[in-house]
Amino acid sequence: MPSLRERHDRVLPSWLPLYYEQPIALIRGEGRHVWDHEGRRYLDFYAGILTTMVGHAVPEIVEVVQQQAARMLHTSTLYLIEPQIELAEEIARLSGIPDAKVFFTTSGTEATDTALLIATAKRRSNQVLAVRNSYHGRSFSSLGVTGTSSWSPTSLTPLSVHYVHGGYKYRSPFAGRSDAEYMDLCLWDLRNLLETATAGDVACMIAEPIQGVGGFVTPPDGFFGRMKEVLDERGILFVSDEVQTGWGRTGEHFWGYGAHGLVPDMLTFAKGVGNGLAIGGVVARADVMESLSGHSISTFGGNPLATAGALATLRYVQAHDLQANALAMGTRMRARLDALAARCPRVGEVRGKGLMQGIELVRDDGAPDPALTTAVMEETRASGLLIGRGGLHGNVIRLAPPLTLTAAECDEGTEIFEKAVERAAARAL
Ligand code: PMP
Repeated sequence: MPSLRERHDRVLPSWLPLYYEQPIALIRGEGRHVWDHEGRRYLDFYAGILTTMVGHAVPEIVEVVQQQAARMLHTSTLYLIEPQIELAEEIARLSGIPDAKVFFTTSGTEATDTALLIATAKRRSNQVLAVRNSYHGRSFSSLGVTGTSSWSPTSLTPLSVHYVHGGYKYRSPFAGRSDAEYMDLCLWDLRNLLETATAGDVACMIAEPIQGVGGFVTPPDGFFGRMKEVLDERGILFVSDEVQTGWGRTGEHFWGYGAHGLVPDMLTFAKGVGNGLAIGGVVARADVMESLSGHSISTFGGNPLATAGALATLRYVQAHDLQANALAMGTRMRARLDALAARCPRVGEVRGKGLMQGIELVRDDGAPDPALTTAVMEETRASGLLIGRGGLHGNVIRLAPPLTLTAAECDEGTEIFEKAVERAAARAL
């Protein structure tokens, strides 16, 4: 009898990566815990890549989804869908974007694609600025703005893209400068890039307030606000990719852009709002959203099941003030991670906000250490903790538990992680 792994490898592509030497099949979840096919329990500090935002099997959400599933799964957007309209009203209100309209998709990739489609139509230009070390999805257009070689299997794209410095000070030629100096240098580069590399109008700049796949790279507060001032001089739209940073995860703000003193022209969302249901979307000012000259439809986008579930999830986030919990638990976790960095030289940098904490692991000479990162992944798994990894070199651990994390769970998971790093670092000496 072939194993699940063998069957997986036979029929699924090799470029679809799996975690762990012995991959895990997760079959059940409850709150912040998940169980594998052999009955082992794990504390989940990755939440299905920041997606099961309020945890598993939350009764209030399960009930809504079950009721909707029993009533109707799909109608298409050719008909009025009440939960879709209600969710759009709520997201438009929460977005902070004036006169906002919402278009629903089924994924983050499709949200990126839509934002780029709208921006290029509005500005009648296919020129786009993106950020180095970014990730925005897997389609041709979203890969065009993805600045991470390990996730870019093609250079083909409909866009003309230029990449700006995006806030990864730790691994930049400007490391060691003050935040203010660093921002001045990046701004100089942005202006220079616009003057030398672009021609005529540029449609938009797309950026993640905190880079997700790139390893929770966190620019200085205000960084993108200063960039937007330059963009505004030329009418270039700013698109905030909130796929990982939205819904209060960063603690300080409901959206990641809040740390930057700006209001974006458009924002994209996905992942957490569906708590596992396939939903994403774009929010834009009406004058921007209405730029498409032809019809456009996503058959599954905003379907009754996904929007009913997302509405229940969003209400849960608000009713339990999970943004405040993300701030409290994130601060608690961060204090321990900073202490770990102070005593363990293999921790190069701790960064992030709220329940989005990245730990960059390095060798003694400061070079990225993906082997140590793999060892930490295996150690934590053996101790019953699921975590994520990212970064250009795969040497950044990503801790991003559900926003419902309790203090006891926060301490338990962080302690398992600390011990795993210390054990793996001691072995690597
Ligand atoms: N934008 C960001 C910031 C992401 O992290 C991701 C997914 N990791 C995407 C877009 C693409 O989302 P999806 O995988 O749902 O297509």
